Amino acid sequence: MDVATEKKQIPEIKGLFTWPSDELHLIAGTCKTCGSRFFPRFYSQHAPGCKKRDVVDLILSNKGVIKSYTIQRYAPPTPCVDLSPYAIGLVEFPEGIQVPGIIMGKDFDKLGIGKKVEVVKGTLLVDQEGTEHLTWMYKLL
Ligand SMILES: [Zn+2]
Repeated sequence: MDVATEKKQIPEIKGLFTWPSDELHLIAGTCKTCGSRFFPRFYSQHAPGCKKRDVVDLILSNKGVIKSYTIQRYAPPTPCVDLSPYAIGLVEFPEGIQVPGIIMGKDFDKLGIGKKVEVVKGTLLVDQEGTEHLTWMYKLL
């Protein structure tokens, strides 16, 4: 991409996925106290009663499988980009964690439980300086 036309992109929330990277991976955590795996890594209520003394990064695979999904037909709150209608899916990763997220595209007939998706960057909002604020999204394979 031409440097002059390249848009600035930043994660809306740091620490949710590997960045910068060509292949996005969600950053989950494994609790060394109780063994729970959870996303996001900084989630504080991962297991009842656990004091969470020692959590290590668990970098999830770039691909997962749709376990459930639905179509949203209303716009997200401003200033988010209006993607409506859009699909939200619950995706299971090989590491045993399910993470919800927006599934890109409008070809809803192709969605289905068991379909494979890839983790990709998606634009959540664009600020007044033109900077794109990113989140993770899923793309059907
Ligand atoms: Zn724990």
